[in-house]
Amino acid sequence: MGQRKASKDGDRKVGRRALLIGGAAAAAGTAALARDELARLWWRTPGVEKPRKAGEVDYTGARWVAASEANWRRADRPDDFGIDMVIVHVTQGSFDSAVKAFQDPGHQAATHYIVRQDGHVTQMIRELDVAYHAGNRDYNERSVGIEHEGFVDRPQDFTDEMYEASARLTARICARYDIPVDREHIIGHVEVPGTDHTDPGPHWDWDKYMRLVKRARTAPA
Ligand SMILES: [Zn+2]
Repeated sequence: MGQRKASKDGDRKVGRRALLIGGAAAAAGTAALARDELARLWWRTPGVEKPRKAGEVDYTGARWVAASEANWRRADRPDDFGIDMVIVHVTQGSFDSAVKAFQDPGHQAATHYIVRQDGHVTQMIRELDVAYHAGNRDYNERSVGIEHEGFVDRPQDFTDEMYEASARLTARICARYDIPVDREHIIGHVEVPGTDHTDPGPHWDWDKYMRLVKRARTAPA
């Protein structure tokens, strides 16, 4: 679950996009960029954000329920911050209590996704945006956070349906951002430097989970 410590996730002004666009324009020389090229690049202009549609999800099959805007920061990933990590959490409560917490502006934390014990996937924050879930600013900026419904000391909470649904979700995220499917890039909250959280705990079956992610990653889309 999200961090207890107050987040110091202030806005960071990044000039990298501007530099990249400047470089691309220079490479094109004096020739005007083709019309479709401009259409593709317009949102890369500093201060212009990618178009977003209300209720849109990044994962087919996920249901959208918006988290409170206090629990995440607007960003433009992977263009402002690269994404190279998936962080696995356990809710320490019911699915409904996790949704409520993430909708609570006072909670100061939320993940992008929650996977229920029956395999249902809910998205609460766009992958474009930085969710406050790792308790570490750098890890927040470069990761997608997934909560799993259950308690760390109840192995029976980690159902096959939940493992399989979560593995498919993680495999899609890895495919989208070209993230290697290994334990360097798919980690537990407990492995984040500086965290005081223990999730997903000793009963989370990493061997099984990684096997399922690998299988889903190589399966035909
Ligand atoms: Zn956690």
